[in-house]
Amino acid sequence: MNVTLLGTSSAEGWPALFCRCQACVLAQKLGGKNIRTRSSAIIDGVLKIDFPPDIHAQCIKNDLDLGALEAVLFTHGHDDHCAGAEIQYRGKYFVEDQHAQELPLYGSQDVLDKILTAFHTDPDGSYDHSLYPVTLNTLHVWEQAIVAGYKVTPIAANHDHSRECYNFLIEDRAGTVLLYATDTGWYSEDTWRRLSHYHVDAAVIECSKGFEDGGYEGHLGIRQVVAFRQKLIDVGVMSPDAPCVTTHMSHLSGVMHDELDAWFKPYGIAAGYDGMAFRVTINSAVSVLSV
Ligand SMILES: [Zn+2]
Ligand SMILES: [Zn+2]
Ligand SMILES: [Zn+2]
Repeated sequence: MNVTLLGTSSAEGWPALFCRCQACVLAQKLGGKNIRTRSSAIIDGVLKIDFPPDIHAQCIKNDLDLGALEAVLFTHGHDDHCAGAEIQYRGKYFVEDQHAQELPLYGSQDVLDKILTAFHTDPDGSYDHSLYPVTLNTLHVWEQAIVAGYKVTPIAANHDHSRECYNFLIEDRAGTVLLYATDTGWYSEDTWRRLSHYHVDAAVIECSKGFEDGGYEGHLGIRQVVAFRQKLIDVGVMSPDAPCVTTHMSHLSGVMHDELDAWFKPYGIAAGYDGMAFRVTINSAVSVLSV
């Protein structure tokens, strides 16, 4: 399984829109891995995770062919993950050749409802499939779905209790499993118990907060990421040498990429960055494909 992190920032980006804080000014000055676009990933070039407002820039930067996509998974409906209006550019007025297949989109019911609000729909909620060549498919927590040939199991994220927010277990045909855990605080005891029945070969874990503990409980801080990885190991889900990478970093942490990566290193964690690509195999350590 080849995983590419296309975007690794929290909702406002880094440098953040409208922000003049030291971390944003420094990121602009240093550039490189300190520049982060909104969180998004792609598996094997065919399975997209989230569709953020930066998708266009991410396609250009990563030489991405969205025409090759076989499905899109949505973690949740927050604007930094679900830019529904961008979907219309797959429609007949915007592409030279119509796609033979409708692109299946997968998410919770509230995500699909949100995407529909960006479409011109009939009063009964139906839409012109030549304008929007997609299908909408509802996911349910802990109910495995086959998505573009991958076994996908949504996990209840601890993030925004006014909507359904998912993390994902994604298993490819070889049996390799990725845990994609963006936008979550510490899991509930029920989630840890259910998760303990699974095995994962790599984890992408959000890291929205800095070294300060406390604050909003729907995100993880730097020390919590270490504890989260350790918990995955302790409950038997993941081996200590499994690749573990962060995403969804915020300027509000004030921690620049190199500092974060160096701090995490002794704990077997790599700070993610935009464009980071790595291969995951069953029970194997990470191999970074590109920097
Ligand atoms: Zn987010
Ligand atoms: Zn800032
Ligand atoms: Zn969110």
